[in-house]
Amino acid sequence: MIARFGLSEDEIRHQVMEWLAARSNDGSGAISYAELHDFVLEGEHLPLKDRFKGIRKPAGFSAALSITTTFRPEGIERPYDDGVYDEDVLLRYKWDGIDPNAATNRALRSAMEQRVPLIWFVGVAKGLFQPHFPVYVIGEEPEHHQFLVSAEAVSAATDSFAEEHVRRYLDVRTRHRLFQGIFRTQVLAAYQQRCAVCNLGHPTLLDAAHIVPDREELGIASVVNGMAMCKFHHAAFDSRLLGIRPDLVVEIRPDLLTEVDGPMLRYGLQEMHRRPLMSIPRSKSQRPRSDLLEWAWDRFKMVS
Ligand SMILES: [Zn+2]
Repeated sequence: MIARFGLSEDEIRHQVMEWLAARSNDGSGAISYAELHDFVLEGEHLPLKDRFKGIRKPAGFSAALSITTTFRPEGIERPYDDGVYDEDVLLRYKWDGIDPNAATNRALRSAMEQRVPLIWFVGVAKGLFQPHFPVYVIGEEPEHHQFLVSAEAVSAATDSFAEEHVRRYLDVRTRHRLFQGIFRTQVLAAYQQRCAVCNLGHPTLLDAAHIVPDREELGIASVVNGMAMCKFHHAAFDSRLLGIRPDLVVEIRPDLLTEVDGPMLRYGLQEMHRRPLMSIPRSKSQRPRSDLLEWAWDRFKMVS
């Protein structure tokens, strides 16, 4: 029981996640730093993110409540970028510093031992965070000063937290969900929440398209293999009605250029032919990688 709220820690976690779900449209929208200080329980403010630290353990709590990855224009932690998608799908969260007994690290270790749900705030722009929840700390790699994070709790039957064991307990779809959530967040942020092809700016109509599909070996879940596209252009790209040249110019499959049909064909496809992408990341490090563009362009040419 947390005295100042008159509620158990579990109940508070539950209420925090309900509140976040409402605020963030079930985690699909980003929320501002100021909003993370808006949460009020029984008349008391409970900030959801620590002002200076990545790991947040509110006073009186036995375990951490949230972790934060601050926004970096080039993307999140290297372990994520380096992860070979199908081999290594667990996410890492670095210790606070290198002292295993720092209060913050102990709070996160407690969350692992108690198997309690946490919130992961991923910075998508300065002062703006996308919440991913619930996530669970399911292991620790002390030699690398980091924890393993997953979108699913580990079965209580697991007595070892070794990664090899953990993997067996996690359904592939669940493992991918957190990855895809972060992939989407990063890609949409990099393209300023706009379709690369037509500049449409309604996040509910936008996807994070893979340039090389994730079933392929090259199909990494990294922002350099992504492009924000509206649902229409995403489907057209995946079915190779629309190609993106390595110099970031759109091409439409030749036979479609002479077809006569309604406004979607005309404005949505034909008028996009040979136009440069309308939205690309400001930071060069977030733009599509040329080998991935070449791969997709070669596939497009095969059908045109
Ligand atoms: Zn579009």
